[in-house]
Amino acid sequence: MKKILFLLIIMLFQNVLAIDELKDVGIAKYAVLEVLEDNVPLRDKANENAKRITHLYKGSVLFADKENKDYFRVELKENKYFWINKKYVDVQAIIPEKRIDNVKKITFKEEKNKYKLNIETDFKSTYIVNENGNNLDFTLYDNYFDPIETKISNKNSAFELPLMFVNDLNIKYKNDKPLFGYDVESYEDGYILTVKKTPKINHNRPLKNIKVTLDAGHGGSEKGACCFGLEEKNINLQIVKKLKKEFKKQGAKVYLTRKRDKKIDLYDRISYAKEKDSDILLSIHQNSLPNPKNVDKKHGVGTYYYHPQAKLLAQKIQENLISATKFRDDKVNYASFAITRASLPVSVLIECGYIIRKEEAEKISDKKFQKIIAKAITNGCAQYLKDRY
Ligand SMILES: [Zn+2]
Repeated sequence: MKKILFLLIIMLFQNVLAIDELKDVGIAKYAVLEVLEDNVPLRDKANENAKRITHLYKGSVLFADKENKDYFRVELKENKYFWINKKYVDVQAIIPEKRIDNVKKITFKEEKNKYKLNIETDFKSTYIVNENGNNLDFTLYDNYFDPIETKISNKNSAFELPLMFVNDLNIKYKNDKPLFGYDVESYEDGYILTVKKTPKINHNRPLKNIKVTLDAGHGGSEKGACCFGLEEKNINLQIVKKLKKEFKKQGAKVYLTRKRDKKIDLYDRISYAKEKDSDILLSIHQNSLPNPKNVDKKHGVGTYYYHPQAKLLAQKIQENLISATKFRDDKVNYASFAITRASLPVSVLIECGYIIRKEEAEKISDKKFQKIIAKAITNGCAQYLKDRY
């Protein structure tokens, strides 16, 4: 009982501390923050491991009402708070009221395999895009839509705008078929929301004409995991080359983020996949552990996804890899990696085996076995397309 009381006092004390640490940003209510680089995360709590709610582009403007040592607290909706690390922003001014503008123009555009929605604004505020089954919810905060003032061109029935004036702009993308990649890009006057149309799949040859970008993890000075004289970056590239053959055999169009031993930025790999208008992005890796002693408990093949649209792809690849390699099932995992966070194309990351486990290292570096891995991954992709579309 004494111990519980003691713990309670400690907890209360910690709470008081937490509240004390949080202070107002200035005499007036809001600090106007400008984001200094691309891909800056807005999180649901004030720490580096907290969930990412959205990513912000350079030049985005946010309004913070409180701060602690490292973070600003940002209010998006009344009483809904998120956090941004101070290192990513500049304070532009302290103001008594948020700046809320009317969206100037919304233009809908339909291309051969995608929809594009151009949202023109006076200042770049925060957006959040959420998957909702087959549908998407796009919300632009601190910018409202006015049915009379906002210019709208080429209205498309796939998108639903609010009927009445609202505080934030919320656009719904409605689809009766599964999502196949989407993206929000930033440009000087606003945002472009791109949604890929669901493809028509030839069920006998599901990979025919599907564009696949294959990414051999690491490269150059970034060797990845190393063990038993093996370097992860080399095994990744060897497997990717075999994958390329398998995908081509099944009619896919294949692009490689690297063809040789070269260092490439993670976001450049994603940009390349987008440039090629890819439908699927697969990143190939070999695993290791911070403490190699645990490798008897944790090893085998694992597949990683972030967005719900990629989960089935991860599952199909994992199923095929497990039955082909007979490795331990290191599961389909939800993981926030730069590659898996890409929502265009549909992206997954595959850890084929553990380079720090002798028997797996021998297999993943063996040419014949690499071919088995490549076949399993390709079949997994084909099954995904067949089952989902
Ligand atoms: Zn790796």
